[in-house]
Amino acid sequence: LDKVDAALGLITEIDGFPEPGVRFRDLSPLFADAAGFSTVVDALASTIEPEVGLLAAVEARGFVLAAAVGYAAGLGVVLVRKPGKLPAVAGRVDYELEYGTASLELPAGVVAPGQRIQVVDDVLATGGTVKAACALLEKAGAAVAGVSVVLELAGLGGRATLGDRVVRALSTV
Ligand code: 5GP
Repeated sequence: LDKVDAALGLITEIDGFPEPGVRFRDLSPLFADAAGFSTVVDALASTIEPEVGLLAAVEARGFVLAAAVGYAAGLGVVLVRKPGKLPAVAGRVDYELEYGTASLELPAGVVAPGQRIQVVDDVLATGGTVKAACALLEKAGAAVAGVSVVLELAGLGGRATLGDRVVRALSTV
């Protein structure tokens, strides 16, 4: 077992959360383990595409990962936030969830047109969340160079949802 596999082994599975029939992957024990966390952060840093100038983090677990990855890779972070958190907004996207809708907002004055950005999140499931984050960044004139996640749940079709975008997952289950 290599270090990355050992770290990923700290992720636990909870059946029936947040809805019956869903198997939730909980990264909390991984985040709390010093060696596991730093291993995963370094592994994510190695998935960043060339010429990337900024990381985009998806609220909320993406914030934890992207902050550390940004530090490791020498990059800053823009926070893609749930509505109502930002004093000045560059853009907003509304997207469909399995039950209902959700929205994400981008802070004003942070993303430069033409900038190459890597999106960071913990889990890629249906891909709806990351697709919305990508759309928001692209609407602001940025180019999404790639998407980095710890875990891809392949059965939920997230990679297809993201179309031609480059998706890097440390593990696909
Ligand atoms: P999607 O939009 O791809 O269906 O869901 C991805 C979003 O929901 C991510 O921001 C991710 O944090 C969260 N998510 C979905 N399924 C899981 C899961 O099993 N474990 C964790 N930790 N997050 C999940």
